[in-house]
Amino acid sequence: MSRSQEVPDKEFVRLSSIALKIPVSRLSGMLNRRVLQKVSGFFPDHYRFDKGIAGFEAGTALFKTDDGIETVRGFPKIHRAMMLGVGIATHFEGVPEVAVEEKMNGYNVRVASINGKVIALTRGGLVCPYTTERVLEDGGREFFIDHPDLVLCGEMVGPDNPYVPKNIYPEVDSISFFIFDIRHKNSGEPLTVDEKHELCSHYNIKTVPYFGKFSIDKAAHSIAGIIRELGKKDREGVVIKDPEMKLSAIKYTSSKSNNNDLKYAFGFYNDYGQDFFFSRVVREGFQAVEWDEDEETLHERCCLLGESILKPMVSTIKKRQQGERITEEVQIRVRSLDTAYKFEEHLRRLGIDAQFDEPQLVDGQYLIVIRKFNQSTNDRTSAILNGHLW
Ligand code: ATP
Ligand code: MG
Repeated sequence: MSRSQEVPDKEFVRLSSIALKIPVSRLSGMLNRRVLQKVSGFFPDHYRFDKGIAGFEAGTALFKTDDGIETVRGFPKIHRAMMLGVGIATHFEGVPEVAVEEKMNGYNVRVASINGKVIALTRGGLVCPYTTERVLEDGGREFFIDHPDLVLCGEMVGPDNPYVPKNIYPEVDSISFFIFDIRHKNSGEPLTVDEKHELCSHYNIKTVPYFGKFSIDKAAHSIAGIIRELGKKDREGVVIKDPEMKLSAIKYTSSKSNNNDLKYAFGFYNDYGQDFFFSRVVREGFQAVEWDEDEETLHERCCLLGESILKPMVSTIKKRQQGERITEEVQIRVRSLDTAYKFEEHLRRLGIDAQFDEPQLVDGQYLIVIRKFNQSTNDRTSAILNGHLW
């Protein structure tokens, strides 16, 4: 564990004040309130914004480099269209066409070169040791030699994924990084959609599937077709972007993906926030209306939704009744066991209660199953089965 990057808070605050144009007193206040937090342990020590503040997104990470402070801005929130047609027309008013990309379902990662070392940050602005080991396996190192001032933003997708359990991508065997944005360090300004594709194709970096550009008046119709096709393959949905990247992007998901999320999460019904469930049910309501479904189609949607909610819960309750412990299983695959140990510590820091199974050696790599304990669902289900009232 390297401590070489350790920077005293005072020195860090002084340098950050210059870089971020925020007074020293205000930054110190943020540190005291833990809105700004120090992350030590893995190379390099850094600071992160736990919440969005002073124009900086949550997950913004600050690094001390030879030139002062370098900032990797947090990835911006993407709002959701609930009604595709009017949502696109309103949000993209004045833009002639929109670019449509697949929304892949994994976890958000920003990759940057800091003092010549490539690191991977997860959404909250922590350096993830597992992601850092795996993220550029398919290429991209040359990109950072030529463009140390840019940040690759993308989704880590695949079965060897410690954060997102389902795998629905037949094209990924283990875990792979798919780029969706390229942004500048410090400002967070994005490249245009075309610039991004040019750079990615030049450096042979994979991007999320791209459906192309659609004129504003035809976009909703075309996207509805794309969404239906994606849904058939269990894929999540789309992100709709201003090709110039001046306006923020919006997202829209398939009914199948809403249902799959519900199916999964209701198995751990007391561990997921209630809003997770509610928002997905509401999406189904608006989609059914926008797509003007006949009685039969609506009935089918109702059955699917009901099943997605009840079946996993019934299964969880029965398992608990038989004394089984409810756990979520994910897995990682690493070349070095050191990465696995570091990752174990990383999860502990995140407050995730997980148990790592014995590593299995498969084709020269270690496959490790990780069991996360869903204590809240376990406890609540047992209590109710023992006669407790809600
Ligand atoms: P938020 O809405 O705050 O970004 P969330 O967890 O609710 O967070 P999602 O519903 O998964 O996020 O949607 C946004 C996320 O989708 C992005 O943060 C990114 O990780 C992911 N994503 C997948 N494909 C794309 C894409 N083509 N363009 C942009 N983001 C994408
Ligand atoms: Mg997601």
